[in-house]
Amino acid sequence: MDENLNDVYNDLIMEHSMNSYNKKKLESCDYEELGHNPSCGDEITLEVKMNGDIIQDMAFMGHGCAISQASTSIMIETLKGKTIQEAKEIIKTFIGMIKREDIADSELEKLEDAIAFKNIQHMPARVKCALLAWHTLEKIIAEREKNLDSGSIISSTIKNNHCNL
Ligand code: ZN
Repeated sequence: MDENLNDVYNDLIMEHSMNSYNKKKLESCDYEELGHNPSCGDEITLEVKMNGDIIQDMAFMGHGCAISQASTSIMIETLKGKTIQEAKEIIKTFIGMIKREDIADSELEKLEDAIAFKNIQHMPARVKCALLAWHTLEKIIAEREKNLDSGSIISSTIKNNHCNL
């Protein structure tokens, strides 16, 4: 990767970590999950608003290093408006990229701005920071699927957290 491209990516990460318009509370949400990375002290609360199978909106609150905060914000940008199925594939691609798996360019393109984290694979101490939000969303998706399977979509999937008041 050439130097200039790295600069663009670093700028993108800094921009999102310092001034993220995704860092807020949603007026209402269907899911809320806490993600914690003890090795760095990163902590985020991810909120998700669904519209059928589509991720209508997401936002986060929390604190942590620049990588964790930027990764959360860029994940939100990338996955907002996607279906759950699309989101699952993109999450898998992102995690694969970070873990240095062999990923086709056509799949990497779907990461959009999240490809800015490609170099994290060379910084082992930062990997958990970059993956925090993505693992947190994976948990939400798994929980949603579990509830769909048991047929209790309306009553028990919606957590009565503050975002839902
Ligand atoms: Zn961190």
